[in-house]
Amino acid sequence: MASETSGNAKMDFKTFYNVIDGKLEPTVKTRHTINPSTLEANPEAPLSTSDEVDKAVKIAHEAAKEWAAVPWDERKNALANFAAALEAQLEDFAQMLVWEHGKPILWARHELATDIGFLKGFCELSLPEETIEDAPDRKIVKSYVPLGVAVGIVPWNYPVHLAGAKLGPALLTGNAFILKPSPFTPYSGLKLAELGMQFFPPGVLQALSGGDDLGPLLTTHPLVNMVSFTGSVPTGKAVMKSCSDTLKRVTLELGGNDAAIVCADVDPVVAATKIALFAFCNSGQICMSIKRVYVHESIYDQFLDALVKHVQALPFGVGETAFIGPVANELHFKRVQKIIADINDAKFAVAAGGAESVPGQKGYYLPPTIIDNPPESSAIVQEEQFGPVLPLLKWSDESDVVQRVNGTDSGLGASVWTRDDEQAVRVANQLEAGSVWINTHAEIVASTPFAGHKQSGLGVEWGVDGLKSYCNTKAVYRRAF
Ligand code: NAD
Repeated sequence: MASETSGNAKMDFKTFYNVIDGKLEPTVKTRHTINPSTLEANPEAPLSTSDEVDKAVKIAHEAAKEWAAVPWDERKNALANFAAALEAQLEDFAQMLVWEHGKPILWARHELATDIGFLKGFCELSLPEETIEDAPDRKIVKSYVPLGVAVGIVPWNYPVHLAGAKLGPALLTGNAFILKPSPFTPYSGLKLAELGMQFFPPGVLQALSGGDDLGPLLTTHPLVNMVSFTGSVPTGKAVMKSCSDTLKRVTLELGGNDAAIVCADVDPVVAATKIALFAFCNSGQICMSIKRVYVHESIYDQFLDALVKHVQALPFGVGETAFIGPVANELHFKRVQKIIADINDAKFAVAAGGAESVPGQKGYYLPPTIIDNPPESSAIVQEEQFGPVLPLLKWSDESDVVQRVNGTDSGLGASVWTRDDEQAVRVANQLEAGSVWINTHAEIVASTPFAGHKQSGLGVEWGVDGLKSYCNTKAVYRRAF
């Protein structure tokens, strides 16, 4: 790997370093990923060891003390300037996401725009101290103090947005933050931290990339005070166990199995088109993608027909007109291929797709696949597929469909689609999920808390509640002497 580079060097998007103590730091060994659309090798990225982890954490521990003393408005201005710089380089970052993740450029730009909107949105939030009691003889004031060193561990499906949505609240509240990107998508996280070198003091925003051993090195480090984790349920459980030894604060945003309930009174063609977007955007690799669709039996056939026609016309690729990109890495590609193979073995009715590759496409492409009314107990209904495979199910009785939708361990999101306001609110109120949408899905804003129910998570991100996740609560009781 090339030698250390100055922090003010122009970002070239071809060379990648850890960001430690305000410097770009190479590692002895490097690794690279594969472009999922072309199967060509991506650039080399750092392979961090316990040496880098220890160095970065110790530096963060010191930097956190000074950063915590910086007034809120100054921290906010630094974050706002960082967001503006990211906006100025939106296209560079979006093009990187195309080769890093295999996102069609449409969705890559969308991810950047979402993240920039979030970073700006966080700057609108505040966490002032609150007076709980102001009596003549006693005053009680509650405030929120930063935890110290926060680590953000993110998955590969939204490498920019999920990183930005953690680093914003962590830095705003006065913590030092170390980002650990996924081994499948190390590049954008490193570049985000590199960009941050222009706006945050050394050690306040750092990034380390590496292999599978890197996460545990961070979650077990005694000087890390908080871990904000986004990823799968099994890894989330391992992170929580690991954090318990030192009683680190932990936030878990985990997998989902979001259902959409489509009621009898909607236009099935319009509903099918909208639901296709929320099911197949990013090739279904979104925690809150629609992963099961329950359609009222009176419009089921029309809905299925419209959905099949719509998805069969979606263009493949990563270029300007593409909608369906490849699955993001080989490991996950094989996992989704196996899901499709199991569906074919079980002889479920496949209404669209069903093949384990796309003719003429070199990368990890899979066709949008629709399963027509599989058994409720089947894996494709009960488990998260995280890919372009969607089961459609029939319903007739409202309380029955609510029970079926609530009948999994997941509780990330859910939606209900109807023109009937009363039915919409009645059903929404019964759904066991952290985010419930009516006639839409997966809409998120920085001001609104995001939290998985059941095994979809622990704690809260975003909104004022999310800021509190990066703080200890402190009460000061004051009496006159
Ligand atoms: P994953 O759990 O395999 O990995 C997530 C991150 O954890 C990666 O950075 C990985 O390197 C790291 N990691 C792995 N083992 C670790 C350990 N023992 N200790 C600490 N860190 C460790 O998840 P993935 O396959 O990258 O992502 C897909 C999953 O993420 C899906 O289940 C999806 O639903 C979920 N997800 C959830 C949200 C949400 O906000 N709820 C958002 C996006 C993705």
